[in-house]
Amino acid sequence: MKQFKAESKRLLDLMINSIYTHREIFLRELISNASDAIDKLYYRTLSDGDTGLNRDDFCINILPDKENRTLTISDNGCGMTKEELENNLGTIAKSGSLNFKKENEQKEDIEIIGQFGVGFYSAFMVSEKVTVLSKAFGSEEASKWESTGTAGYTIEPCEKESHGTTIILKLKPDTEDNHYDEFLETYTLQNLVKKYSDYIRYPIKMDVEKSRLKGGTKDEYETYTENETLNSMVPIWRKNKNEIKEEEYNEFYKNKFMDYTDPAKVIHSSTEGTATYNALLFIPARAPMNFYTKDYEKGLQLYSNGVLIMDKCADLLPDYFSFIRGLVDSQDLSLNISREMLQHDRQLKIIAGRLEKKIKSELESMLSNEREKYEEFFKNFGLQLKYGVYQDFGAHKDVLQDLLLFYSSGEKKLVTLKEYVSRMKEGQKFIYYACGENVDRVDKLPQTEAVKEKGYEILYLTDGVDEFSIRMLMKYDDKEFKSVSADDLGLETEEEKQAAAKQVEENKDMLNFMKDALKGKVKQVILSQKLKTHPVCLSTDGAISIEMEKVLNSMPTDEKVTAQRVLEINANHPIFKKLCSLYENDQDQLKAYASLLYTQALLIEGVTIDDPVEFSNQICGLMTKE
Ligand code: ADP
Repeated sequence: MKQFKAESKRLLDLMINSIYTHREIFLRELISNASDAIDKLYYRTLSDGDTGLNRDDFCINILPDKENRTLTISDNGCGMTKEELENNLGTIAKSGSLNFKKENEQKEDIEIIGQFGVGFYSAFMVSEKVTVLSKAFGSEEASKWESTGTAGYTIEPCEKESHGTTIILKLKPDTEDNHYDEFLETYTLQNLVKKYSDYIRYPIKMDVEKSRLKGGTKDEYETYTENETLNSMVPIWRKNKNEIKEEEYNEFYKNKFMDYTDPAKVIHSSTEGTATYNALLFIPARAPMNFYTKDYEKGLQLYSNGVLIMDKCADLLPDYFSFIRGLVDSQDLSLNISREMLQHDRQLKIIAGRLEKKIKSELESMLSNEREKYEEFFKNFGLQLKYGVYQDFGAHKDVLQDLLLFYSSGEKKLVTLKEYVSRMKEGQKFIYYACGENVDRVDKLPQTEAVKEKGYEILYLTDGVDEFSIRMLMKYDDKEFKSVSADDLGLETEEEKQAAAKQVEENKDMLNFMKDALKGKVKQVILSQKLKTHPVCLSTDGAISIEMEKVLNSMPTDEKVTAQRVLEINANHPIFKKLCSLYENDQDQLKAYASLLYTQALLIEGVTIDDPVEFSNQICGLMTKE
């Protein structure tokens, strides 16, 4: 007896003891595997042409056996060699799902099971023993894999006439609450195939008992058996849109893309002309666990006339729409096309361009007509759109700028740039923004005071990428973006500006003294025009802001960047008078004050300070000063 690898064992455990109510999905999983296996062989048939097989030869069979309490599912697909059986069924490296389980112990099994599409192991939800007979296409030998669960599995040679895989499930005994024998009922099986596997493109066949009038009689019936095809086999994307119920789309999506929530949006489009294709795209209702990691692979399934030629065709989706799942079926593509050739394929480029437009317009219509839904979407994938604005030196900003949402200080909710601009006050020159860790923190930033006082709206940027994207946009509707930390906020009148300049001139020496006391930490100490009630804040000079510095320095490179900091002091705050008097009477103390004010400004910005102990000691020094 061989042991399952630790991870597989735990997954198996989860399956066996699952309280998952949708046990029935095991059938869907096994049928999908069978269909994939046939796909592989059929594809080989088409591309190499040396298999001697025809499309009509392929099928999946279901055989319930009430007497022995077994359900058999067999296919004549590519089959598995002994090694493949061992590798595919002995180790299932779905480590992601197990980590997920660990982290979310309290969550229902359904979440885990649904999220990962556990495939083959789901058979153990209904079976006490699973036997797999398989013969790889072109091989002489067949093998038998058998397991009763976590104890382990055996593999031995066996007899099998033709290539393909046969899976025999010995169903669990019925309990009061669970009737596993329903999976032996013709009616149940027919319904399950219709519900979950109708679109499978190979016939799923089962012997169905029927009755008919006996020849020559009026009311005498006889029963006979017919080998019936249970699925309609028409791929859903080839069906007429108005013949498809929402539920059908949802089931298809969940089944195909292993999600457990219905998609937020279905985009079904077919086009003829320069490029003829059917596309069925979905916007998931939530981001996959690995979406924002490098493990996530974007791409659409690519079919040529109903035959899968590539599982994740990345060229069909721009990075900023990488969250889209779905497929494209086109008759214009050659079956033998290789990945490299595909990249240069003109048809594919045309299709990709069309899809991008279509996705964009669907998102726009969601934004205008289903705002709540769009905001939910944005919560999941907005980050990706914002990266998109930044990517490729802003090349895609026109596509994306109207899809962005930012929190508004005035509206206290997410708004679009268009909405912001439409509300701009007379005389307001800029689109203002402020950056920080979260809305609450940004809202408290001293720098926002002056802009707020004018009654202008401020966009609160709370994601690391936000400011980079905004800088890339530069303008929206001809209005420039302006950080509330910028030196000139464009709020003062000419007189105010002149008065301020005069005040700076008068205090030049003291400000320079403070700057020197800070030993290169700041580029300048100035009297602030943007502070109203708060004593200090930090702003920056040059291209890099404090927020950008934080983001850039959190990246794994050795090169550290520093924003050119400017310490701003409120001349209307009592602290200013104090500083002036220290400059006259106690310059040592002024040095200490400069350092304290600077550290306070750092804290306000959410920047980690170099020496918190020193800061604390300085404050205590002041507190205990007689
Ligand atoms: P997944 O289908 O998500 O890869 P499964 O647990 O369902 O995971 O199956 C694991 C692997 O076993 C598959 O990727 C496939 O290579 C192989 N497999 C499963 N069922 C069959 C089958 N009927 N014929 C051939 N190979 C199969």
